[in-house]
Amino acid sequence: MALTPEQLAEIKEASQREYKTKRSVAPELEEILFEPIPVLDHGFIRVVDYMGDDAAIVQAARVSYGRGTKKLNEDRGLIRYLMRHWHTTPFEMCEIKFHVKLPIFVARQWIRHRTANVNEYSARYSILDSEFYLPKAEHLAAQSQNNKQGRGKLLVGEEAARVMELLKSDAERCHKHYVEMLNLDPATDGKLEEDKEGLARELARMNIPVNFYTQWYWKIDLHNLLHFVRLRADPHAQYEIRVYADAILDVIKRWVPHTYEAFMSYRANSASLSAEGLAALKRMLAGETVTQENSGMSKREWEEFLECIK
Ligand SMILES: Cc1cc2nc3c(=O)[nH]c(=O)nc-3n(C[C@H](O)[C@H](O)[C@H](O)COP(=O)(O)OP(=O)(O)OC[C@H]3O[C@@H](n4cnc5c(N)ncnc54)[C@H](O)[C@@H]3O)c2cc1C
Repeated sequence: MALTPEQLAEIKEASQREYKTKRSVAPELEEILFEPIPVLDHGFIRVVDYMGDDAAIVQAARVSYGRGTKKLNEDRGLIRYLMRHWHTTPFEMCEIKFHVKLPIFVARQWIRHRTANVNEYSARYSILDSEFYLPKAEHLAAQSQNNKQGRGKLLVGEEAARVMELLKSDAERCHKHYVEMLNLDPATDGKLEEDKEGLARELARMNIPVNFYTQWYWKIDLHNLLHFVRLRADPHAQYEIRVYADAILDVIKRWVPHTYEAFMSYRANSASLSAEGLAALKRMLAGETVTQENSGMSKREWEEFLECIK
């Protein structure tokens, strides 16, 4: 993860600062506030701020004057009801801000989620470190034979070793050339060779491969965060973004435990059936033999249906 001593000192200082507030706080989230949670080989997520908690969702749903006088289990029940019936606006009352360090190719997928506010580290202004993502051996897989967007068998032996060597040496070479073009020492920002101008940072960066790390601040409301997590903590998502979404899911559990529980029930671990799927299930329960041919579903839909009810 390679945080510099200065960065660690800043985090420590922020962690030790305390404010007296009338606003509600989420005690379990407070425990990890500002702390970098490692993801991949050099990445992390860390929560830098948040607003609201489970009670804020309930409060907004009831449009009440205070935190309310209802019992805890009634709040839990209301949150489950809201989640079950896609009554989403109360979840928009909570906000969270992350600092994320992630490979550029993961950032390209992540940025497709448009309902967040982003501010990215500027490689026009700063010099990129030589930090790039290298997959672990257990993630170095061949193209899947049946899924154009997925991975198949693991690469092994000489092939795996060669791929790792190429990934590493190409990244190192590109960064070396990047520094040479800048004519700047990344450690001191001083000139490497006095008689050279050095290429502008905004141009030199085009030589940087997409496995290099970038960083951003990313702020989003809870409703849209749950949408992000539902898509990206899913087995269909690429491993390298899924590990970030999994880490965020743990944050959500600490922040809004009732919402987390409802999300796991009605989104993450649930399934939705089409009209044909529902009809097929009813016929099956009535003892009928239903096949793909008499179900009205395509072959792929039928396979997905079986996967969901097995
Ligand atoms: C497994 C997987 C595979 C993918 N493969 C591809 C791919 O091959 N190619 C590719 O290009 N993308 C791909 N994507 C990205 C995907 O199509 C979405 O762009 C991404 O998941 C963001 O989803 P979103 O638009 O719902 O999220 P957000 O941008 O956060 O939007 C949330 C919701 O707000 C609404 N919304 C936001 N902005 C607008 C708008 N401008 N107009 C109308 N409604 C809006 C929509 O209802 C949207 O669902 C993939 C995503 C996943 C999870």
